[in-house]
Amino acid sequence: MTKRLLFRNFAVLFWISGLTVASVIPVRSEPTVSAVRLGVHVDKTRIVIELSDRVDFRIFPMISPYRLVVDLPAMKWRAKPRLDFHRTGLVSGLRYGLFSSTASRIVLDLDMPARVKNSFILPPAGGKPYRLVLDIVKTSHINMTSNEQTSRHTVKPHVPPAREALLGPPGRKPDPMNFNKRVVVIDPGHGGVDPGAVTRNGILEKHVVLAAAKVFKKRLEQSGRYKVFLTRDRDVFVRLRDRIAFARSKNAELFVSLHADATKSRKVRGMSVYTLSERASDKEAAALAEKENKSDLIAGVDLSANSKEVTDILIDLAQRESMNESSRFASVLVDKMSGVGPLLPNSHRFAGFAVLKAPDVPSVLVELGFLSNERDARALLSGTHRTKVADALYRAVDEYFNPVE
Ligand SMILES: [Zn+2]
Repeated sequence: MTKRLLFRNFAVLFWISGLTVASVIPVRSEPTVSAVRLGVHVDKTRIVIELSDRVDFRIFPMISPYRLVVDLPAMKWRAKPRLDFHRTGLVSGLRYGLFSSTASRIVLDLDMPARVKNSFILPPAGGKPYRLVLDIVKTSHINMTSNEQTSRHTVKPHVPPAREALLGPPGRKPDPMNFNKRVVVIDPGHGGVDPGAVTRNGILEKHVVLAAAKVFKKRLEQSGRYKVFLTRDRDVFVRLRDRIAFARSKNAELFVSLHADATKSRKVRGMSVYTLSERASDKEAAALAEKENKSDLIAGVDLSANSKEVTDILIDLAQRESMNESSRFASVLVDKMSGVGPLLPNSHRFAGFAVLKAPDVPSVLVELGFLSNERDARALLSGTHRTKVADALYRAVDEYFNPVE
């Protein structure tokens, strides 16, 4: 009893002092996700998400392929990513992370049509924090399709509108302070709900390429000759077309997308540079483009909203010239990269990467190496190697803008 009273007094004191010190601005930190678990039962698959707070959530289905999407507010994801899913029950995969600066998303890949039968938040109990519980059961294709159509009309995505339409007017005038600086946009691939390539020991492409992008940006800025922007500077999902729109809005003169691949054969290693082409230079390049283009699909983005025909024609007109420039940059880059580490044979390749489709910005995609290869992975995680890569990229950019005659 005394203890309780004491505690109460202390709490009151704390509350009063808190009021005087903590000023008027209420600070509310983002809720934290501490664990995500999945349990297979006879009649359902249950997913439990442990949270530090009660949150609003919204669930909707997507078909081709079958997925269930859970939208949540922005949260800190402390939970260890569990991306290697055993095929037990209905759910074959689960991804989660920041989807934009104000929203998080969980995407469940399904082996067959399914729906959420029950969803609720349990208050803290038995040493456990708040828990969001989802019970998933089998349904029919017809049922799932009609649910998807209903949700398409009623569910407004949490996502902020695209920063600029793909072919809208180019953005702001160049900053007078940076009048003589060339504008380079670096695009770290993937992010947030889309991890990109994943290795057996849990290395995620999205982290590796973000780290590389930051060092590259710093190197360019140190020269004093470049104004550099990143399409993302943290672990957040960005749609492919928003990456392009971002580059255009910044009046980018060069767009460099950074990736790291993974393949079944652990022996394959080396860097490679890609530029856009309707026809891929080989089967592997085509397969790689297909994999990278899946980014939006993985994050559960509705692709049906794109008015494809019109943009395709306009892009084609503007693209021819920037494609030549992209190729020129790619060959300089291959030359500089050869001093850093092994390159894949035919290191400059062509393929239909969605992220390279800015009509008027010369764009290349660099695969920095293979996370599935031990030596490449070790290099990609090393700071020394990162600096060497950044330096080679920087020298290529310099030579591209000031060609040696
Ligand atoms: Zn990638």
